[in-house]
Amino acid sequence: MSKVIVIGGGPAGCMAAIVARNNGHEVTLIEKNSIIGKKLSITGKGRCNITYEGNNQKFLDNVVSNPKFLMSAINTFNNQDLLEFLTKLGIETKTERGNRVFLKSDNAKELSDRLYKELKYKNVNIFFNSSIKEILVKNNSIFGVKLDNNKIIECDSCVIATGGKSYPVTGSTGDGYSIAKSVGHSINNIRPALVPIKCHEIETCKKLQGLTLKNVNIKIIDIDDPKKILYKNFGEMLFTHFGISGPIVLSASSKINNVSNINEKMKNSKIKCIIDLKPALTNEQLYRRIGRDFEKYSNKDYRNSLDDLLPRSIIPVVIQMTNINQNKKVNQITREEKEKLVKVIKEFELKLKSLFPIDTGIVTAGGVNTKEINPKTMESKIVSNLYFAGEIIDVDAYTGGYNLQIAFSTGYVAGSSIN
Ligand SMILES: Cc1cc2nc3c(=O)[nH]c(=O)nc-3n(C[C@H](O)[C@H](O)[C@H](O)COP(=O)(O)OP(=O)(O)OC[C@H]3O[C@@H](n4cnc5c(N)ncnc54)[C@H](O)[C@@H]3O)c2cc1C
Repeated sequence: MSKVIVIGGGPAGCMAAIVARNNGHEVTLIEKNSIIGKKLSITGKGRCNITYEGNNQKFLDNVVSNPKFLMSAINTFNNQDLLEFLTKLGIETKTERGNRVFLKSDNAKELSDRLYKELKYKNVNIFFNSSIKEILVKNNSIFGVKLDNNKIIECDSCVIATGGKSYPVTGSTGDGYSIAKSVGHSINNIRPALVPIKCHEIETCKKLQGLTLKNVNIKIIDIDDPKKILYKNFGEMLFTHFGISGPIVLSASSKINNVSNINEKMKNSKIKCIIDLKPALTNEQLYRRIGRDFEKYSNKDYRNSLDDLLPRSIIPVVIQMTNINQNKKVNQITREEKEKLVKVIKEFELKLKSLFPIDTGIVTAGGVNTKEINPKTMESKIVSNLYFAGEIIDVDAYTGGYNLQIAFSTGYVAGSSIN
């Protein structure tokens, strides 16, 4: 039996503490907040999208940064193992649209409360309202931690599970990065992920605010290298007063945040988002479809002819983009004008201005360099008996329950690897 300290009472830290305790270690969990799982309690809009339904490959396909690093962890503890763990805790789940698994209670706090109960039941010592400011290393091996009140607690092993840097009100303020750095780890480019995106066309976005587009294609390109597609996807997005958001846009932010000079390029209007409003139709099919609608409304004004084709709020914007007089009779619209309309609908363009800041991110991209962590154990390759788990590591995934799965899988591996 060895003395283990787990820093951080999020899903990764709780899992590591429970597993280490199951293996007979004396475990102390140190949490900055006065409760367990503050961020966990707000996940999935308070309903907790705990994991996904599908195989391990699906998980890896949805990890944006360093999926290979997570192969071993997901093979050791996958979504089925997590569901079994939850069942043992008496927590029921349900699968919703898009293979997203939620808590049956629709109450994320249920899980935080249950994890706390489990930690107590297993006799894990918990220090609330305690922040670690330093870890103590001798001969490349950890021997203790120092709290913010300078109290030292000795240990044989330590798991750092302090989370990322987003939503700092939940306790994840990025402390783990400086702690890891102080003992020789490198921290890869910390940046916002799963965030909304601001656009330059602010007036257009204001007009479209609240509009959800359910089945659209988006494509993000660099104007200077238009052949190279930075991101493309099909699905749901929405307009906000500042720009765009919704599932495919959040995913896009995770993908483009690593493009070199991306912030500069966005600022200089070099990054375009092209929305195909009618992806089910080819240009020719759309041209014919418009032709049929124009025949039906042949005596109407152009501005009153698109109701069958497009959501109401986007019609004035599309009309303006085509530069066709909105009062023109539909039967007078020329072939070239119809082709222009097709182009605007198939290639509705917005210039991206900036990603939302990191504190609004659902996750943080970047973190402790995966090359410095043993993927089979989550142990540091620099300091022995030091482990990492969860969002502090340079891994992040798309929405859909994958990020919590990362936290639980890496937490499990770290906790079970301690000697
Ligand atoms: C609004 C929102 C909704 C989300 N919804 C989902 C979802 O539905 N599904 C999904 O898969 N993912 C979701 N996520 C992401 C998910 O919550 C995180 O990826 C996950 O919580 C990471 O777990 P973690 O244990 O690594 O870190 P955290 O949950 O951030 O926990 C880290 C803990 O460490 C503590 N800590 C930090 N520094 C110190 C220190 N110095 N000393 C002591 N303690 C410290 C913090 O107080 C915190 O409690 C969401 C995130 C947000 C912000």
